[in-house]
Amino acid sequence: MKYHNAADSLKDRVILVTGAGDGIGREAAIQYAAHGATVILLGKTVSKLEAVYDEIEDLGYIQPAIIPLDLMGATKQHYLDMVDTIEQQFGRLDGVLHNAGILGVLSPLEQIEESTFDDVMQVNVKAQFLLTQAVIPFIKKSPDGRIIFTSSTVGHSGRAFWGSYAISKFATEGMMQVLADELSNTNVQVNAINPGGTRTGMRAKAFPAEDAKQLKTPKDIIPLYVYLMGPESRHVTGKCIDAQPKPSSSHSHCE
Ligand code: NAP
Repeated sequence: MKYHNAADSLKDRVILVTGAGDGIGREAAIQYAAHGATVILLGKTVSKLEAVYDEIEDLGYIQPAIIPLDLMGATKQHYLDMVDTIEQQFGRLDGVLHNAGILGVLSPLEQIEESTFDDVMQVNVKAQFLLTQAVIPFIKKSPDGRIIFTSSTVGHSGRAFWGSYAISKFATEGMMQVLADELSNTNVQVNAINPGGTRTGMRAKAFPAEDAKQLKTPKDIIPLYVYLMGPESRHVTGKCIDAQPKPSSSHSHCE
C-alpha cells in the first residue's frame, strides 16, 4: 500500500523518537521534521543525535531537541523527569515512536546467556513500558495522540535462533494491543510497525553475508511511519502494519 502524506501533515505536533541517532529512527526523525513536526531525538550516542539535529537544522526544519538517554540503565524516574522537561519546554506531546532496539545474540534458545536475555528485554520491552507509563497522562491531553511501537516479522511468528529478540517483539505487540484497547475511548491511537528487512546496522549484524543493496532503505519504508503519526490514521488503532507487505498478501496487516 502506498501512503500519501501531505507536506505539512505533522504541523504543530511534538513527536518523541527513540533511537533517533541511527537507522530507521534517524530517518523517521528527519521525515517527521520534514512534515512539520518538532522532533525530540532520544538515544544513547550523543554524537549521532547531534548529527541528526544538525541535519534537521541545515534542512531548514523546525529546531529539534535532544534527550541523551541509555535505555539500558534508565529508571522510572528518568522517564518521569523527561516528561516534565518536555512539558515545560514544549507544553505538549502528540506522538511517541518507540524505535530503539537491540538484537542481542542469535543462537539456540538453550544457549542464550541470561545476561543477553535480560539486556534485550530491558531495552526492547521494559524501557518502552516505563516510558509509555510516564507519557500516558501527558499524551492523553493531545487532540490527536499517537504511540507507535516497533515489531518484527519474528514478533508474530517465532523462528529458530531468534530467541530473546523474537520474545521481546512478541511482548511489544502484546503491549501495543493491551494499550490500544485501554485507550480506545481516548484521542490516542496505538499501533505497531513491522519494518521488514531494512538496510541498517542491525540488519547487517543479523545477516552479515547478504547483499544489503537488495534491501529497502529506511527512506523507502518511512511513508508508513509518517502516516501512522499523522491525521490520516486517526481511526487506526491496535494494528501491527507491515511496512513491506508480501506482494501475495491482500492486506498489509501483520498476521
Ligand atoms: P539500528 O540501526 O541498530 O538502530 C537502533 C537505534 O536504537 C540506534 O539509534 C541505537 O542508538 C538505539 N539504541 C540501541 N540501544 C539503545 C539504548 N540502550 N538506549 C538508547 N538507544 C538505543 O536498528 P534499526 O534497524 O534501525 O532498527 C530500528 C527498529 O526496527 C528496532 O526496534 C528493530 O528491532 C526494528 N526492526 C528492524 C529491522 C531491520 O531490518 N532493520 C527489521 C525488523 C524490525 P545507538 O546507535 O546510539 O546505539
